[in-house]
Amino acid sequence: MTLSDAPKLADEKLAESLFLNVDARREELIETTVDLLKIPTFNPPGDNYLEICEYLETRLSRSGFEITKRRAEGALGDSDKYPRWNIIARHQGKRPGECMHFNSHTDIVSLGEGWTKDPFGKDIEDDRIYGRGACDMKGGLAASIIAAEAFIQTCPDYAGSIEISGTADEETGGFGGVAWLAEQGYFDPSRVQHVIIPEPLNKDRICLGHRGVWWAEIETKGHIAHGSMPFLGDCAVRHMSAVLAEMEEKLFPLLGERQTAMPVVPPQARQSTMNINSIHGGQEQPEDGYTGYPSPLVPDRCVITIDRRYLIEEKPAEVKAEIDALMRRIQQQRPGFKYEIRDLFEVEPIMIDKSAPVAATVTKAIEAVMGKTPEYVISPGTYDQKHIDRIGKLKNCIAYGPGILELAHQPDEWIGITDMLDSAKVMGHALISLLHQT
Ligand SMILES: [Zn+2]
Repeated sequence: MTLSDAPKLADEKLAESLFLNVDARREELIETTVDLLKIPTFNPPGDNYLEICEYLETRLSRSGFEITKRRAEGALGDSDKYPRWNIIARHQGKRPGECMHFNSHTDIVSLGEGWTKDPFGKDIEDDRIYGRGACDMKGGLAASIIAAEAFIQTCPDYAGSIEISGTADEETGGFGGVAWLAEQGYFDPSRVQHVIIPEPLNKDRICLGHRGVWWAEIETKGHIAHGSMPFLGDCAVRHMSAVLAEMEEKLFPLLGERQTAMPVVPPQARQSTMNINSIHGGQEQPEDGYTGYPSPLVPDRCVITIDRRYLIEEKPAEVKAEIDALMRRIQQQRPGFKYEIRDLFEVEPIMIDKSAPVAATVTKAIEAVMGKTPEYVISPGTYDQKHIDRIGKLKNCIAYGPGILELAHQPDEWIGITDMLDSAKVMGHALISLLHQT
């Protein structure tokens, strides 16, 4: 489907009454956001997932949604102590049609230092609600609930269905949340046709995907010996320092030159990047309270973890081959040097076309609500779209939601009430375009 084929807005008056309906729900929107912020769903470890699902069950049953709660048993991170609960709420229209799914993660990151406001929704000042997860992304979840409820009331005879999911673990990879649900078939294109993830990307921007990621461990191997006779050993840390020097001199400048056509935000991420996430060599660190000295040893292993973010213009095999070639260059310079590269995690880059039905529909909605053409962006890091795309095989998915991206995970995180109302109008307008077929 192209932009011009996207469903035409049936009735401008319908949109007007939907906007009024959203505005009339301002207090309800604030209340829902605060209720969500009150439940401390910290991840790790994964606290209170059942409680937040039960809250959403009560909240959405009230407006006629059918509820399914599923624990991601056996998924990475799931345990009896910290069960990974997810909720899928479905509202069925009066006639057959397509399904629009709003997916929000319910987990929040830890508070960190520097808070001057209450982190659980007690502080509302002017247009702002403060709290951990206010912008990332309980505010987006609340806005999607209000959008759906306003739409259902405005268009009671609509065609198709609306789903709202609240899912676990996005902040730690989404394996006990969207990945698990996608494996169970919840994101199969035969049951869901459009997905909006209300992550905080700013209310006038549409996020079409993300850069690729490859996490790997690189180990240099040496030979253990007495530290007083290092010539009898082979120091794995010195091998690693040669690797790091090569990265510094050759690899990082090269990555910086590799620019992309992907509209990644912030602009500094519009290139290939690599982070050295950790380094460890030699003996294990002694436990706290150990007062002795370490033993004199030549380290026989040193490990770094790399986090390589790559572009749609790069192939995953090339990204890996580049690191392997670097290691082989070092190997040629250093007799006896051995290494191993272990894959930890990888996701290919995603960039859907802005003419995809859900993107084209939200574009029209932003134009109608805010009178401007949206900016199309790509996220520097991945989010749950990766699982919907790769496991669910559902390509028609965007991230669109209220909240300022840079506030995510910061102290005194907040969400703007007007921003939530505007983006609820955008989401409601998109529902009219896709589900109100006359
Ligand atoms: Zn998020």
